[in-house]
Amino acid sequence: MYQFLTTEIAYLKGVGPQRAKSLQDELNIYTYRDLLEYYPFRYIDKSSFTPVRSCFYAEAAVQMKGRINDVRVLGEGRKKRLVAKFYDDTGSIDLVWFKGIKWVEPLIKSDEEFTLFGKVTRFGKKYNIAHPDVEKYHITQTKSGNLQPVYNSGEKLGAKGLHSKGLEKIIRSLTNLCVGKIDSTLTPEIEHQYQLMDRETALRQIHFPDHQDLLKKARIRLKFEELFFLQMALIKQKMVSRSKSTGYVFETVGTHFNTFYKNHLPFELTGAQKRVVKEVRKDLSSGFHMNRLLQGDVGSGKTLVSLLVMLIALDNGFQATILAPTEILATQHFHSMNEFMEPMGVKVDLLTGSAKTAKRKQIDADLRDGTIQILIGTHAILEDKVVFQNLGIAIIDEQHKFGVAQRGKLWKKNHNPPHILVMTATPIPRTLAMTFYGDLDISVIDELPPGRKPIKTIHYFDSKRLVLFQFIEDEIKKGRQVYIVYPLIEESEAFEYKDLMDGYESISRRFPRPDYQISIVHGQMKPADKEYEMNLFAEGKTQILVATTVIEVGVNVPNASVMVIESAEKFGLSTLHQLRGRVGRGAEQSYCILMTGYKLSENGKKRMETMVRTNDGFDIAEVDLQMRGPGDIMGTQQSGILDLKIADLAKDNQILNMARIAATELLDEDENIQHKKNYPVRKELIRQMKRKPNWSRIS
Ligand code: ADP
Ligand code: MG
Repeated sequence: MYQFLTTEIAYLKGVGPQRAKSLQDELNIYTYRDLLEYYPFRYIDKSSFTPVRSCFYAEAAVQMKGRINDVRVLGEGRKKRLVAKFYDDTGSIDLVWFKGIKWVEPLIKSDEEFTLFGKVTRFGKKYNIAHPDVEKYHITQTKSGNLQPVYNSGEKLGAKGLHSKGLEKIIRSLTNLCVGKIDSTLTPEIEHQYQLMDRETALRQIHFPDHQDLLKKARIRLKFEELFFLQMALIKQKMVSRSKSTGYVFETVGTHFNTFYKNHLPFELTGAQKRVVKEVRKDLSSGFHMNRLLQGDVGSGKTLVSLLVMLIALDNGFQATILAPTEILATQHFHSMNEFMEPMGVKVDLLTGSAKTAKRKQIDADLRDGTIQILIGTHAILEDKVVFQNLGIAIIDEQHKFGVAQRGKLWKKNHNPPHILVMTATPIPRTLAMTFYGDLDISVIDELPPGRKPIKTIHYFDSKRLVLFQFIEDEIKKGRQVYIVYPLIEESEAFEYKDLMDGYESISRRFPRPDYQISIVHGQMKPADKEYEMNLFAEGKTQILVATTVIEVGVNVPNASVMVIESAEKFGLSTLHQLRGRVGRGAEQSYCILMTGYKLSENGKKRMETMVRTNDGFDIAEVDLQMRGPGDIMGTQQSGILDLKIADLAKDNQILNMARIAATELLDEDENIQHKKNYPVRKELIRQMKRKPNWSRIS
């Protein structure tokens, strides 16, 4: 029966070699199965059309039925656009297209009924719909129930008669052929337990739903299945890497840890910090190789946890290392950790890209003979020539700046791979964490140190600049310090520099020497100069730090209480949250001020509102996920995992949880998937693994 689904698409009635080629080139559809799994992206619900009169009040996209007239092309060159009126018995609304005019114009110049799908936007008193989907309304097609599938197509496919309607036709003939030929990929047990629709029905209903309820059930089934196999692969991989990699056993918690804990700890650990240290200790003594992700909001005290964990390695005769994404941050870790370690006689050193040859030589020697016990640095540590005598644990701070391949490099730094703790202050929604870091164990610090006052966040339009300056002056008078951050525009470094310099000048005019001292830090400065300026600020010698986002990550100056973010609309939510996390680190009330122009996009507005509304990084991460989708958040380098056909990691939380549980239970009971009853799962898993040979994300 599998052979049936692997039949080449050219053999399907109504396809043939020419269309098959287009389907392959445009949609990656090679086989019957591929076509069956090419799901509609929406449905025209013939039973519910919004009257045109009511569309002006609709928040979401609407579907209407009516006719089109007044089709005209206006403007020239880049301002060229196609406009028309859409009307029914109740009213009319303007339509506009800026692209694809050549394509749309002949279609809509016809006196037939159309169905239209689109979102109404408002400009002052005027309303219109830009780039709506319009299709001729065919009464004959209502025989398939009220929901008509709509498929993504394109001009090239359209030219071969494979626009949405054409696709619908060949998919319909395929589903008719399929009757009785679709195997389940899940066990009857799982289908029963989670009350899933059977696969064959689901595949038919997803294309040609009889009604909304069945469509919903079909969707759940197919999403479950997709997420189930994703989780199977991840859990399986975790099991394999665990069984293969013996970890160094850190049995003793000895003098270093205890001395520090009893005599040098600057404050009582929070409950969450204690819990995480315990979780890590358990891993380290287990005999398995630790691969753990530590999530904790900005300012939750991850640094201290990492230091404690490194001391356990030292107590067991191993070296430890911590990697930071920027030189500034590495340097700062070095100073703060060294301050604690020096009195205890622990040798800590710093390695960054700008280390001089002599310094490097010394570090090399000291690392090889074990003199250096803790090495702090940037990705320079990853270079092959950096060789440890006996590295027991590697900590990666602010993981999102490091790729997976870099994690892999650390594995090779000792005979057995050192234990790995990855720390991130960009909270990742649970659905994403389970998927992207399915191969890691996860710890969470969900508690801030006591006595922190929530940061007050204010959104100002640029016209409030005088108010802002007065506020800064008042805070400085109270002895506080202020960050002012400008966006870093990657495509044009010169531009970034200009914004920053203009800002710097106007701030210097408003806050002149000698009453005020200002530091400046940006990406084009030499590391040494950056460090010098940063230090002036950290030591309280300057009151204002003007910077680009180089300070985004990790920098800690507890006396700074104001974070001003210029052109805040140009930053993403996670960056805004990171930046805000630079203040609120001391006992004083802190402020984050978001400066923007008047013109804000919908998303821009939403970002500002979210920042003003909440300080909770996990909350913000959820909003971010809803707004941008998982691909953007995790970066394209990992987007292979996002080749999801139907499930949506931003929305299908519940289904993902169920699928994860089902996968875990199955593997708990039948680790190698050998029981007869699990045969369908085994077969599908093997098929999928063959298709994705690069499943392993840890190189
Ligand atoms: P992050 O998790 O963002 O890396 P840090 O480790 O830089 O946070 O800690 C932020 C601040 O909180 C630092 O000034 C640190 O000294 C302080 N801190 C950490 N743990 C505690 C605690 N248990 N009690 C009080 N202050 C703490
Ligand atoms: Mg940190």
